[in-house]
Amino acid sequence: MDTKDQKFIREFEKKILGTIKKYKLASKKDRVIVAVSGGKDSTTVLYLLNKFGFKPQALFIDLDMGEWSDANMKNIKKFCKQLGVKINIVSLKKEFGCGICYIKSVIRSKFKLNQCIICGIIKRWILNREARKLKMTKIATGHNIDDEAQNVLMNWMKGNMQLSLNLGPMTGTVSDKKFVARIKPLYFTIEKDVERYSKLMGFPVQYKRCPCAIGTYRVDLRAILDNMKDSREIKQNLVNHFLKILPKMRKKLGKNNQVQYCKLCGEPARHDTCNKCQMMEKFVSVK
Ligand code: AMP
Ligand code: ZN
Repeated sequence: MDTKDQKFIREFEKKILGTIKKYKLASKKDRVIVAVSGGKDSTTVLYLLNKFGFKPQALFIDLDMGEWSDANMKNIKKFCKQLGVKINIVSLKKEFGCGICYIKSVIRSKFKLNQCIICGIIKRWILNREARKLKMTKIATGHNIDDEAQNVLMNWMKGNMQLSLNLGPMTGTVSDKKFVARIKPLYFTIEKDVERYSKLMGFPVQYKRCPCAIGTYRVDLRAILDNMKDSREIKQNLVNHFLKILPKMRKKLGKNNQVQYCKLCGEPARHDTCNKCQMMEKFVSVK
């Protein structure tokens, strides 16, 4: 490895430790679990939290997407073994009797719901429940600045900034004993840099994108942002400006953000039924 790469690695790691410290994402007293997909971002988070001494565990959700899920699971199991990190695995097939592709196709045959949204709702529901069962105090994800810039823009374009209240380096408005806070150590890190770091470190990951993430709003926005001149600065400006106005937005829009418990599953929810149970009711109604 040449000195330029070594310098990049040092600065990359320093930046992420800086984000964790500045935003108080985790302390050594926390029990941290990393939501690992087998991709470069969450693998990097797991590696660094372990390196920084947070003693994390890992949680992988097997979405049962054939070769894609099998390769991710194999990679992340191997990596956790190398690091000496405990990996917890939840199988969607065991949980719901089928994989994510079937759930999505059934729901989408009748309802107009974006496939990444369906998958995201199920993943978040499982992550919170499992993390709580394991007495974890923080869930770390691999979200980076590209993801956040896309989220901010998407919510704006949908005309619903309420959806952005929970963005930020740490989930903010919900504070409840059944809710495990989610943290994003790569919040200020450009995706291209994570890729470079992961490749230099030789992490065993797939660099392809999820095969289902096609034809979505996010895909279009990613392409627009990536193809712009000064794309790096634009993403940084978007996210930095968003963080500046977030406290005011939370004050103004966050009043009705009280936590309830889902009447069907008992998980924390914004309404009397959580998003996952509302969605699975749709699934059962069509099936
Ligand atoms: P995505 O929703 O695919 O953009 O992933 C965002 C973050 O969610 C990743 O960086 C991971 O931290 C987490 N994640 C995604 N897929 C999985 C999975 N199958 N199991 C556990 N965590 C996941
Ligand atoms: Zn529920």
